[in-house]
Amino acid sequence: MDADRNFVIDQIRERLRFYASLTSFGFARETEAPLPAIAPTAPVRNETLEQIRADLGECVRCRLSEKRRTIVFGVGNPKAELMFVGEGPGQDEDRQGIPFVGAAGQLLTKIIQAIDLTREQVYIANVVKCRPPNNREPEPDEVETCRPFLDRQIDAVKPKVICALGRVSAMALLRTDEGITRLRGRVFSYRGAKLVPTYHPAALLRDPGKKRACWEDMKLVRKLLTESSSSA
Ligand code: URA
Repeated sequence: MDADRNFVIDQIRERLRFYASLTSFGFARETEAPLPAIAPTAPVRNETLEQIRADLGECVRCRLSEKRRTIVFGVGNPKAELMFVGEGPGQDEDRQGIPFVGAAGQLLTKIIQAIDLTREQVYIANVVKCRPPNNREPEPDEVETCRPFLDRQIDAVKPKVICALGRVSAMALLRTDEGITRLRGRVFSYRGAKLVPTYHPAALLRDPGKKRACWEDMKLVRKLLTESSSSA
């Protein structure tokens, strides 16, 4: 009898959680259950960003190397508390070798400033380090080939919070098929960091209506950073 009642209560809880997860306005939802942890994919090593960059070399591990001009490794504070992970370099980034320098990058700079930080204080990288031709999405095998380098960058920087920018980044890191609209506003755990998915700045440029949700996510990022520094 008790078992039946507990089952019904669990069902109701599940249903309520589902309805709560559909809410797309107001303050960011916080996960009351333990953060969904994602299994690490590359063994944790003790190495510097310079060592990882040297190991990457003039990479030809996947077909993206054929059309790229420059490998876009990552920039910023090697000990940043906050790391942004985008999808992959675009044309401007491919020319300059620096992530997020085009139109989406300028918006990202504003987003960073909106939480009282500078680009120099955070670390910025992408899921793939070479520009996909015609800015197409990276293919799953390209993502898988490149992600050990991203994992190693995360391990070297040891950010407290990772902000995954857009569907491709969130899906790659969280290994999920869920869309960004369902993932954003939630806190995950990845390689010792708290991970907050949000919309890609390019999506905000296409649809400014998404800016409000992104701002809620950024407030969540700021809160997690504050909490982690007061508990340190
Ligand atoms: N979009 C990305 O995802 N990354 C960049 O570096 C630039 C644009």
